[in-house]
Amino acid sequence: MTENKNELNINNMLFRMKEVEEKSGSSSMCIAKWMQSTVYLMNGTTHSCHHPAVHKIPLSEIKDNPSALHNTSFKRAQREKMLQGKRPSECQYCWQIEDLGGNHISDRVYKSTDEDWAYPYLEKVLKEKVGKNNIPSYLEVAFDSTCNMKCMYCTPEISTQWMEEVKKFGAYEGTTHRVGNLEWIKSQDRIPMLDTENNPYIKAFWQWWPDLYKELKTFRITGGEPLLSVNTWKVLDVIKANPRKDFSLAINTNLQVHPQILNRFINYYNEIAPNIKSFKVYTSAEAHGAQAEYIRFGMNYDSFLYNIKDFLKRTHANSQINLMITFNVLSLSTFDLFLKDILSIRREFNVNNGFNRLPMMINYLRWPEFQNVRVAPFDVKKKYIEKIKEYMLDNSSVRGCDEAGIFYLEEVDQVNRLELYMFSPMKSDDLKRQFKDFKVFYREYDKRKNISMKNLFPEYSALYEAES
Ligand code: SF4
Repeated sequence: MTENKNELNINNMLFRMKEVEEKSGSSSMCIAKWMQSTVYLMNGTTHSCHHPAVHKIPLSEIKDNPSALHNTSFKRAQREKMLQGKRPSECQYCWQIEDLGGNHISDRVYKSTDEDWAYPYLEKVLKEKVGKNNIPSYLEVAFDSTCNMKCMYCTPEISTQWMEEVKKFGAYEGTTHRVGNLEWIKSQDRIPMLDTENNPYIKAFWQWWPDLYKELKTFRITGGEPLLSVNTWKVLDVIKANPRKDFSLAINTNLQVHPQILNRFINYYNEIAPNIKSFKVYTSAEAHGAQAEYIRFGMNYDSFLYNIKDFLKRTHANSQINLMITFNVLSLSTFDLFLKDILSIRREFNVNNGFNRLPMMINYLRWPEFQNVRVAPFDVKKKYIEKIKEYMLDNSSVRGCDEAGIFYLEEVDQVNRLELYMFSPMKSDDLKRQFKDFKVFYREYDKRKNISMKNLFPEYSALYEAES
């Protein structure tokens, strides 16, 4: 049944993609290049979609045209290539998959055929050509880098806490890419501006907003920690005053802000959510207890769980918290305990016909490479992934669990894919380099924060203590 449904979806998608390519006369056409955008206003960079590297937004371009926050001359040149049937090299992520042939489907196809924000816009995109004044249907924005946490896989560009630390202690010397290297960020002109009031990119955003809001389908706010940004509250105020029934709002939060701020957010949520199409809240974690706090430094695990429940308790029975899991090398040993907590919240709140109020999406961390789960020794991976799979299966519909609080088949599938990935082979030179980076980074991480990896992750003692 599921397979047939999947096949139907894939056939539908391929049929639509054929239409996109035929109508545009281009086999490299991708609607995401026009209709999906992420803009980092704190340092004036953008990309479409999220796969290509970010590029700088020239101040001269936004001077007379605030939509150049998205429609930079660089991006328009990539669109031009697509219209001519050429492949922009920044989209390598997709070309690699397409060149594998067989049944492999790239994100170009998934995204271009999305029935909400991409496919319905084909005619508009073709009419606009390179789209100097294009309004995207899906826009993600980071207003500033203010954050109260410094997760181990984050960067000084995105977190003020990280920035403070590297200003004090410098980069992580001895790691291959000098983690936290401010000179490199400076050389790319990507140091975030802290004075949000005088940030020309934020000014341009507000100039663009009246046109943008008329057409935008989905708007997602990321950070830093968005709930610490005055501009997030400004957006919420504007939407509260002028709600649109066909508009979706999404916000990322670490759920670790002061209770008064969270309280204010829940009040806004309750006022806005009934009047727009959807209001999604995303948060992140990938381990349990002290181990989670080690990974996401600044987090208090108990208050994190408390805040999830508090939000679900005080909002409508249709509200959700979407958990984004960036599974990494330090997730392995306590992930089953984290799953247990997820399940317990689902059992408490998923009472309405099995409607899942705490969905999760398991992705694996790719960068920095030495935090990638593939770095873990074979025995460690084997031991913990078996435990994780067993726990999920025991609590899934496969073993006849009730609908109110279970793991869903697609989640079991995500873990199966994670397992395949974590055991995929690596070149021995790469592995050697990552073992070295692992040791150098975590020894320094512990020193800077006065914490102990060895106590919390004894499974990696040999890696941590290895002589060079
Ligand atoms: S071709 Fe791929 S990488 Fe390029 S914009 Fe489309 S989905 Fe993103």
